[in-house]
Amino acid sequence: MAAHKVVCWDCGCDVEDPFVNTCPRCGGLLTVKMDLEPLKAMKPEDLHKEPIGVWRYAPFLPVDYDKRVSIKEGGTPLYETKALSKEFGIKEMHVKYEGANPTGSFKDRGMTVGVSHAVELGAKVVGCASTGNTSASLAAYASKAGISCAVFLPSGKVAAGKLAQAMFFGAKVISIDGNFDDALAIARKMSEEKQLYLLNSINPYRPEGQKSVLFEIMDQLKYDVPDRIIVPVGNAANIWAVYKAVKELEEIGWIDKVPMLTGIQAEGASPVAKAFSNKTADFEPERNPETVATAIRIGNPVSGRKALKAIYDTGGYSTTVNDDEIISAQKMLGRREGVGVEPASAASVAGAKKLRDMGIIDKDERVVCICTGNALKDPDTIIANSDPIFKCANDIDAVKKILLG
Ligand SMILES: *Cc1c(COP(=O)(O)O)cnc(C)c1O
Repeated sequence: MAAHKVVCWDCGCDVEDPFVNTCPRCGGLLTVKMDLEPLKAMKPEDLHKEPIGVWRYAPFLPVDYDKRVSIKEGGTPLYETKALSKEFGIKEMHVKYEGANPTGSFKDRGMTVGVSHAVELGAKVVGCASTGNTSASLAAYASKAGISCAVFLPSGKVAAGKLAQAMFFGAKVISIDGNFDDALAIARKMSEEKQLYLLNSINPYRPEGQKSVLFEIMDQLKYDVPDRIIVPVGNAANIWAVYKAVKELEEIGWIDKVPMLTGIQAEGASPVAKAFSNKTADFEPERNPETVATAIRIGNPVSGRKALKAIYDTGGYSTTVNDDEIISAQKMLGRREGVGVEPASAASVAGAKKLRDMGIIDKDERVVCICTGNALKDPDTIIANSDPIFKCANDIDAVKKILLG
């Protein structure tokens, strides 16, 4: 295991108690500080004995490789989306397709590390609040680890595929009569009372695994750093994880340029984007977040301040896209590129189009959009926004009439 310690992101003090989620001294956010010294003597090729995936980057991770709880996460494709680049007027555009992870979202990158750490600590019960994907992922990794799992979901707002996964992998599924922010408050209380080990992204080990998406992008682009990386922002840990990975690579001298980290939120759930437009380091929580992109339907993002730091510090940007723009980008990915993503994931691509139209993205930029989850997560939204199917008699002439007119 790479040497590391947990510190408070706000006051900087060391945090010894492995069961707290905030700083015991100031209430601030926690983060893992890795000892990067051993990596300074290495080159990217030294990692290539292991196939591309989260565990190729074990020297950057705060858990023991030999005791990992893994279902072979990461190693997702990076597609060059030429049809979309042309349509948007951007020189080079790629999509990092996180829908190809074992449970169909990037959450698996954080969970393999988070659950490995939980097992190291001897946790018997793990839990989380979730808009859906965190619970699907945690349920699978808890199964793999042989420990129990409880998930707290906002009632009626979880996409069918995600709910089915949590049930399928055998989690105790508790539907809270409230939104995600309410469900998280309950999960945090349960954790404070030591009823479960919390694996929401407020747990600093989760973003450590999520750093791997950036390491893979760099590998796949042969360390030719892109100008910009665009990330959908919900609870805001993923963009923070990408930033943390960028800073670590910079510190060990593997990159000498930093991509502009760009966070996209849904119009109806946009505290981070609003804070960015007001140029503030903190955000105002929103009470009733609403968007078709349920994975980012979050009004009080736990890592919102970290996300803003990531965006400001890299000269990035943040804006919103509305539900029509999200659905339109989702369709474009499907119909022009053959790539199926869920609505929240399409926010990054919708954001690329909007920021190019606004002139924020230059025509000569090389852009990577992270597409966070698989289309099959939310079949209802796809069916509701597609052309109707053809109802047809059991008869070839009737079929010909439909196809040939
Ligand atoms: C969790 C999730 C997000 C948001 O990630 P944060 O780290 O909460 O900002 C975006 N898209 C999908 C598909 C997700 O599952």
